[in-house]
Amino acid sequence: MRLTRYFLPVLKENPAEAQIVSHRYMLRAGMIKQQAAGIYSWLPLGYRVLKRIEEIVHQEQIRAGHIPLLMPTLQPADLWRESGRYDDYGQEMLRITDRQKREMLYGPTNEEMITDIFRSHVSSYKDLPMTLYHIQWKFRDEMRPRFGVMRGREFLMKDGYNFDVDKASALHAYNRHMVSYLRTYERMGLTAIPMRADSGPIGGEDTHEFLVLAETGESEVFFDSAVTELKLGQRDVDYDNREQVAEVCREFTTLYARTDETHDAALFDAIPAERRKVARGIEVGQIFYFGTKYSASMGANVVTADGSKVPVEMGSHGIGVSRLLGAIIEASHDDKGIIWPEGVTPFPVGIVNLKQGDAGTDAACEALYKALAARGHEALYDDRDERAGAKFATMDLIGLPWRITVGPRGLANGVVELTSRRTGVSEEMPADSAVERIAQIYAGV
Ligand code: ATP
Ligand code: MG
Repeated sequence: MRLTRYFLPVLKENPAEAQIVSHRYMLRAGMIKQQAAGIYSWLPLGYRVLKRIEEIVHQEQIRAGHIPLLMPTLQPADLWRESGRYDDYGQEMLRITDRQKREMLYGPTNEEMITDIFRSHVSSYKDLPMTLYHIQWKFRDEMRPRFGVMRGREFLMKDGYNFDVDKASALHAYNRHMVSYLRTYERMGLTAIPMRADSGPIGGEDTHEFLVLAETGESEVFFDSAVTELKLGQRDVDYDNREQVAEVCREFTTLYARTDETHDAALFDAIPAERRKVARGIEVGQIFYFGTKYSASMGANVVTADGSKVPVEMGSHGIGVSRLLGAIIEASHDDKGIIWPEGVTPFPVGIVNLKQGDAGTDAACEALYKALAARGHEALYDDRDERAGAKFATMDLIGLPWRITVGPRGLANGVVELTSRRTGVSEEMPADSAVERIAQIYAGV
């Protein structure tokens, strides 16, 4: 993408309404525009990151054997009357009446609708296990929408629902989700710690929240610092292997890590003092096992191997897709701007032309841009007629992890400069070596 042909409405000043760094940088980098309290347009740069995050979520869900579909944002109220949640949900639910005076709502979540889909088509244990998920906009009329996309009213969520014949299988589905989430967050450059949480009004027996540590997080968390060292890495997990999946979950949930709702002071005090940590965290996902709560009230039954009919065992599992942009920025930035992890960056690399209009420099930038494209990497080429300082400031603000700087002086020596946004370290090398380096860096992402 050539910057002169792009739409990147960067702001010079700090917007007054932004209280936290991620909100400030998302506005300044021209990623989002607020349209109403907690409701945003996704401008091109923000949209690219959102799509990238969605793609990683899809890939990891599909790897775990879960099936994507798409349910609508609007739902009939009657479905929610069946589970009894239409009245329980309260003011957070946006209720709508259509021209036929039918009561509708903008879905805050989809347990009822997915249970309805299931009961319409599935009635035998032979079709199980099954996990269906979608990535769809949700609406919750939050009392205090704030912090930009972190606590929006309209927000994008991945929500998945498992259907299993018995509790042991449903707990395996729970564990599968835990492992797939760990892998998802790691690919985004995040450390998200699974913490035992409170099942709250949704009602359930088992639930973990995934928290990214950040000073601006809304949750207070208590943990053994050793938990932050755990990494899933490249290990090969067979999602059908119950014992192997359960073992990974044990590894990640044995050390103490809880939110304030489930905090146990006695257990916490048993941790060696130097590893005892109290901090703040951002909830980027949650998994629930809730058994037959919806299937029993909505009549979603399956026939088991011995011929009896039982309500299907379920759980629901969510990832805050749009919130993740804020969480990643909170975890990865400096005083100049965002520092995108390679896994989610809107462009893999930026090209800065130090002397726009100089025939040799322009030609070298064009050649570099095309060489990167030929390797499958779309650079953001700053081809504006601007001074170098302004170009660097824009690149630093929007946070591309790598920058290639091209100027007449370097070209005279046959080199360009490759700079890491994270470390600030620059290296001179011939342009084709820079292309090679970018290709190597992204080969493993
Ligand atoms: P919170 O406690 O932050 O209000 P929640 O527990 O009500 O969230 P869930 O029902 O667990 O939310 O939704 C799954 C995920 O969706 C959450 O883990 C979070 O990442 C995200 N999410 C929830 N509410 C919002 C919101 N208002 N704006 C952006 N993301 C949200
Ligand atoms: Mg939650």
